[in-house]
Amino acid sequence: MEKVVLSSRPYIRDFTKLELEKLIESNQFPRYRADQILDWVYQKNVRSFDAIKNLPKELIAFLKEKADLNRLELVSKHESFNHESIKFLTRTQDGLLCESVLIVQRGRPRSQVDFGDKLVLGAARAKGRNTVCVSTQLGCRIRCIFCASGKGKFGRNLTAGEIVEQISLIASEIKERVTNIVFMGMGEPLDNYENVIKALSILRAKWGYGLSGRRITVSTSGIPPKLRQFLKDTEGKVRLSVSLHSSNEETRSFLVPINKKYHLDELIKELDFIHQKLKREITFEYTLIGGINDTREEAEGTARLASRLGAKVNLIPYNPIQEMNLETPSKTKIEEFRKLLELKGVVVTVRQTAGRDINAACGQLRLDRTTGATEDVATSTS
Ligand code: SF4
Repeated sequence: MEKVVLSSRPYIRDFTKLELEKLIESNQFPRYRADQILDWVYQKNVRSFDAIKNLPKELIAFLKEKADLNRLELVSKHESFNHESIKFLTRTQDGLLCESVLIVQRGRPRSQVDFGDKLVLGAARAKGRNTVCVSTQLGCRIRCIFCASGKGKFGRNLTAGEIVEQISLIASEIKERVTNIVFMGMGEPLDNYENVIKALSILRAKWGYGLSGRRITVSTSGIPPKLRQFLKDTEGKVRLSVSLHSSNEETRSFLVPINKKYHLDELIKELDFIHQKLKREITFEYTLIGGINDTREEAEGTARLASRLGAKVNLIPYNPIQEMNLETPSKTKIEEFRKLLELKGVVVTVRQTAGRDINAACGQLRLDRTTGATEDVATSTS
């Protein structure tokens, strides 16, 4: 089959304001038109150049002929049984599949919410949060043992535009603004560093989505050489979440293979530095797996690290994936682990397994390019 490649046409969502101004000016249109385009793209969330109302028809014609506004096409969406998450499967221009998840936290009782499309519209009207979990890569090279995203062949990095377009597409589907973004979908954000930093600048810029860094969380498996640079490039204003999963070097190397290269020791030392400078608290993600990292020793070790860094801990009971025969701990075991952390003064949340029934829960997102299947596609914790 002929290989489809990404078009070389300019992709507006890949552009910073300055880059767009250059494109506009170099084609004999006034620079200020870039502001108008960006306003329609990010604040009004148009998904077609024709929907832009205040541009001259020559500029619209130029954009239509020479540039791309969208490069993701919706393939399917699946809503979880409890209506708390919707998984969106999209196809990239070069024919690969990308997954994103909407997590809806409504401001009214669940029993009052309808099914299907009505739910989304209803949820949109209710006061609450619409959090989008975006993917940053198609597949993942970190290959955590419990995560579907790391299984199979690595696809490629997503561009900055493709990362932010996931938000646009979902906002347009739910007809409501997205309030929070988590970089916890497929891929290790710091392994696609330049594109992730550019996507973050589009999300935070006044000319872009204008989101506060408080509303954005980047989750990483922990790549020490990139962490300091990340702190600098985001001015310490974006939330950082680190996938810990074990306080023991050997167990962590088994669960998160990159730990063999960058030892936990080294990661924690780097986080000590980050902790001093970051304007937000660090969060540890901890996937609890029965018989592997749910022991008292692990709870005590995790409490020690969390206390040292003033970190919150998110416990995520393991969400099953086809390839791994791992155990989800019992409710009693989860509670015991949580209490041990709390006894040591650590703030803990047990993350709901929202979306498990549609394979949209943490660790269940995957790249399935062989079939284009909509069933086995899944979020990670990094
Ligand atoms: S948990 Fe994150 S870093 Fe690990 S394989 Fe999954 S996507 Fe990659």
